[in-house]
Amino acid sequence: MARTIDLHVHSTASDGILSPAEVVAEAAARDVWLLSIADHDTTDGIREARTAAAEAGLTLVPGVELSVGAEAHEIHVLGYFIDLDNQPLQAVLRTLRGARDLRNERIVARLREIGAPIDLARVREIAGDGSVGRPHIAKALVEAGHCGSMGEAFGRYLARGKPGYVGRERLGPAEAAQAIRQAGGIPVLAHPGKLGYRRRIEEILDMGLEGVEAFHSDHVEKDVELILDIAKSRNLLVTAGSDSHGPQSERPIEIGSLDIPEWVGEKFLASAPQGWDESR
Ligand SMILES: [Zn+2]
Ligand SMILES: [Zn+2]
Repeated sequence: MARTIDLHVHSTASDGILSPAEVVAEAAARDVWLLSIADHDTTDGIREARTAAAEAGLTLVPGVELSVGAEAHEIHVLGYFIDLDNQPLQAVLRTLRGARDLRNERIVARLREIGAPIDLARVREIAGDGSVGRPHIAKALVEAGHCGSMGEAFGRYLARGKPGYVGRERLGPAEAAQAIRQAGGIPVLAHPGKLGYRRRIEEILDMGLEGVEAFHSDHVEKDVELILDIAKSRNLLVTAGSDSHGPQSERPIEIGSLDIPEWVGEKFLASAPQGWDESR
């Protein structure tokens, strides 16, 4: 196994299965030298991960993944090298997490209406310290006997277009990019392959994004080619991440499992804002 990087991993601080320290241990075991934990709408896992990374001898860059919207699309904006103590950013994250709580309540209400009742308190218990998300609701659906697996829970109830799907009010990409920048970070458009075609991707990038996630577990080769071409023509930072949520998650993907050219990690680290160091 060659030395590799992974700039997009989730932990139990949001909807991942592994704790931040477990993510770092798994990354180290898989020969990852440059890692970022980028949880949904929270930086709560970073400090634990930082301690573990110092012990494991790998470089940890603080990250976050903001869920925002543009028209009907769900857009994810990654923020790297952010200052964890930046209060305006933390306020934005609190707002986003609040929107998530409200959404969970609406999903549970919807499930009750369609004859698949689950207990929100149990969903919170399953989530533990992390923020509650659809994977926890899926587990509760399995537990309550409404379906046989988490995959079935998504397929029958929770995926977009299914009866238990609830959209949510969101911040726009421009506001997310701004919040990340003023916290000293670099805003990056996550997995743009999902957006489909070039013009759509460029429209979002124009909203103040400074980087683009070219390598991602959902991207096929032609996505990567397109996104690298866009990045080159606009001189954007290129990032790479598995988006692993851990084993037994909805979509199990190993940390550090992508094939990423060496220059990606080198350029990424070279783009660190002046004065940034791992202990910040
Ligand atoms: Zn995402
Ligand atoms: Zn993600």
